[in-house]
Amino acid sequence: MDDAILVINSGSSSLKFAILAQAGNQLVVEGIAEGLGSSAGHLTIKCDGRKTVQELTQADHKNALVKINSWLEESPSLKSCLKGIGHRIVHGGEFFSASVIIDDNVIKHLNECAELAPLHSPAHLKGIEIAQYLFPTLPQVAVFDTAFHQTIEKEHFLYGIPISYYQDYHFRKYGFHGTSYRYISQKLEECFPLSIQQGVLVAHLGNGASVCAINSGKSSDTSMGLTPLDGLMMGTRSGSVDPSLIAFIAEKEKLTVEETIDVLNKKSGLLGVSEISNDCRLLEEAMQAGNVKAKLALDMFSNRAAKQLMSVATTLNSIDHIVFTGGIGENSTYIREKICTNLKAFNISIDTQKNLNASRGDISSIAQDSSSSKIWIIPTNEEKMIALDTINLIKNDE
Ligand code: AMP
Repeated sequence: MDDAILVINSGSSSLKFAILAQAGNQLVVEGIAEGLGSSAGHLTIKCDGRKTVQELTQADHKNALVKINSWLEESPSLKSCLKGIGHRIVHGGEFFSASVIIDDNVIKHLNECAELAPLHSPAHLKGIEIAQYLFPTLPQVAVFDTAFHQTIEKEHFLYGIPISYYQDYHFRKYGFHGTSYRYISQKLEECFPLSIQQGVLVAHLGNGASVCAINSGKSSDTSMGLTPLDGLMMGTRSGSVDPSLIAFIAEKEKLTVEETIDVLNKKSGLLGVSEISNDCRLLEEAMQAGNVKAKLALDMFSNRAAKQLMSVATTLNSIDHIVFTGGIGENSTYIREKICTNLKAFNISIDTQKNLNASRGDISSIAQDSSSSKIWIIPTNEEKMIALDTINLIKNDE
């Protein structure tokens, strides 16, 4: 085994990790510590086709990483192959347009970005601090969800609000899922080399969902904004709504602004409309059993995705490719078909049979021959992208 990288995604109540070897090409271990901050946490590790679950007493980020390190000490040959650690960081503000090796200056800027991502940034900083303590000899790299979108032009990233709010508080569209979009752009180029000079629309549809326009390999617009609440309807997030709605909901439901935003983040989207679940699979089952609200939620999700795709497409010269990715984009035949049906006015047409027969986990081309845009399913792999960035930065630094 060679060039192994530990990838850490430290969230507010969970910490996901993976070890990828052979410069990102071989997934060796993956796991998740859940229930952090509560009394009943546990750590799940999957390795060699086996899954182990351990209790986490005093479940916090430190104990989770200490347990992961203890597990690694029992596999010294694996631990000795580790070359570095890559951290997934949600918000890099305007400081970071690419991944960076973490040093004191990077930590300072991460602290400055923290107010833009109050749920995520403190957990990321904790993850970095503990990893530096437990693995003092390993270089660490920060990979940002926002970085890929730093190429978006000012006229697209500014909101139509007093410009002093941007100058004073940095309120603007940042966009997220950038690591996934960068991976997809590279994968598409491998399948279709000309795509790097063309216009590409990507729909990253998972529990969190967004779309991105990629013009000659660079993000030219995306649907998420200052925070990941904007844009598409998602699993539990409303996506874009009339901003005045916040005041109306707060008044009628006697909620504060924070509580209202919480409703839009956690009780809306597929879950809020269906009143069943945020899980697309369960909703498709319910729809097939005749549940009207499940169908409504799925159709709203698809309609909004189609509208947002065409909105960001205004930054392209042509729509040469549409790519579906993320848990829903990769797996839901129904949602892909519905989105493409909504795009028929743009001469975009999906091949029903190819859509149905697309094999899971593979790259598939699913457009009709007559379609003006190619349509693809490309499985995303953010961990691999983080591992690749980490190994490349470490090698360049040697
Ligand atoms: P992600 O956040 O990318 O992991 O995606 C999670 C979403 O993908 C959930 O809504 C799942 O229900 C959905 N998903 C996963 N597999 C399928 C499937 N076979 N059919 C429909 N949706 C799926």
